[in-house]
Amino acid sequence: MWDRGLEEALDRAAGLLRRASSVAALTGAGVSVASGIPDFRSPGGLWERHDPMAVATAEALSRHPGRVWAFLREVLAMVDAARPNPAHFALARLEAAGKLSAVITQNIDGLHQAAGSRNVVEFHGGLSRFYCMGCGLEHDAAAARQLLPGALPWRCEACGGVVRPDIVFFGEAIALDALGKSGQLALAADVIVVVGTSGEVAPANLLPREVKARGGGVVEINLMESAFRGVADVHIAAPAEVVLPALADRVLS
Ligand code: ZN
Repeated sequence: MWDRGLEEALDRAAGLLRRASSVAALTGAGVSVASGIPDFRSPGGLWERHDPMAVATAEALSRHPGRVWAFLREVLAMVDAARPNPAHFALARLEAAGKLSAVITQNIDGLHQAAGSRNVVEFHGGLSRFYCMGCGLEHDAAAARQLLPGALPWRCEACGGVVRPDIVFFGEAIALDALGKSGQLALAADVIVVVGTSGEVAPANLLPREVKARGGGVVEINLMESAFRGVADVHIAAPAEVVLPALADRVLS
């Protein structure tokens, strides 16, 4: 894996980042695989055992809240057991050194923040905020971790409505502030580093194309084939937890 082609691609990517005045990162499931969170869509991922339409839509939450909450408990347990890996830490290091303006992530696992990234746009929301679907009351995220199976679904003590995480379910719109912030970042970026995302989910997949359309550079790090093959100036087909630390070393040396 660590061959001359990879070294050369890393050098070219590092050159792009060094010359850029504003760099953003867009991350997807691939960045957290080494942290023990399998891509939901991959073999062994959550969608192999659960039908997303039955557990990850607002309609399912209204109709079968107990079933959706049993699923959410499984997701919470998996996410809470995960720790950031060297890919997350490398992005935090680039930000701290002033070489990365922000991370736009499609992940809901909070691992970028846990690694020390400060400017994180959670495109699909996160599991650190819960609110009642009935009255909107915010609920303590720590309490979500202490729910007993017999107490599901989680109901609001004020109105009896179902409490839900602030994540974007299938069929729901991206929060306006996440859309606005990521759009501004893409407008300002000379270079975008795209890590571990298939590029199949809109509108996040439009951001690299926006940077490219304005003459900016796109660096892609992905073991898998993705929709960005034709867009990326540099493509590195190696694991993010290997590539990003090596890239940060080169950019910051
Ligand atoms: Zn309520």
